[in-house]
Amino acid sequence: KAKKHLGQHFLTDENIARKIVEGLSFENYGNVLEVGPGMGVLTKYLIEKEQKVYLAEIDTESIEYLKQNYDKIKEETFVGDFLKHDFADLNGEQIAIIGNFPYNISSQILFKIIDHYKQIPEMVGMFQKEVAERTAAVPRTKDYGILSVLIQAYYDVKYLFTVHENVFNPPPKVKSGVIRLTRNPKEGLAGNEILFKQIVKAGFNQRRKKLSNALKVLNIPEALKAHEFLDKRAEELSVTDFISFTQLWIENQ
Ligand code: SAM
Repeated sequence: KAKKHLGQHFLTDENIARKIVEGLSFENYGNVLEVGPGMGVLTKYLIEKEQKVYLAEIDTESIEYLKQNYDKIKEETFVGDFLKHDFADLNGEQIAIIGNFPYNISSQILFKIIDHYKQIPEMVGMFQKEVAERTAAVPRTKDYGILSVLIQAYYDVKYLFTVHENVFNPPPKVKSGVIRLTRNPKEGLAGNEILFKQIVKAGFNQRRKKLSNALKVLNIPEALKAHEFLDKRAEELSVTDFISFTQLWIENQ
């Protein structure tokens, strides 16, 4: 029986499961980590590939089920709670992420991927449609926000397809969307990442205000106070605008 507090909605459509797994390129990395395998609808296609598979699952019933039903899945395959997973254990090896994610922790999963982008070349996964759309959103739209800018600073985002509620058991309340992230860190980020994230977050936390107001909490450098971007709202700036503004800020601090 599905456990609601763990965000369990089991995918029942094999074609969609196969399509999600085929969304990964399986190129240039030796490892894949699946978040929330549940009863293994994606996992059974993953373990046919050459890559080493790791499973992050916190539901002991699912873990037992997977160990009993798939020879290739052993105790050592499991890494526990994804949000607590330590990527350092891989000694810098590259690992792709896949999952039909538990929707209650969608943003936390995405932020964790960004934090470890140096080890994560690719991600294919399913989120509630609204979150999937936010990751792919462009400036001057209501979906464009912190998630869009931070993800697009590190990854190219492709919205792959929408999935209807009725192919899950139990059906979720909303439609889902599958996206692919392909690592492509934008130029100018290196060394500036902490301030970049602070500026993006402060800007969108007061998204109706001009940046001159929204960024006051960060002490805008004197030399930047007349910059044209400060007369705009966060949603009017592109990802590269945010990056070049961060660079200027650091040069003038
Ligand atoms: N992959 C399965 C499928 O497609 O049918 C299950 C998907 S279900 C939407 C999400 C899964 O994530 C559940 O199996 C749940 O137990 C697991 N889960 C919830 N929180 C987790 C966490 N912090 N780390 C790892 N797995 C988690």
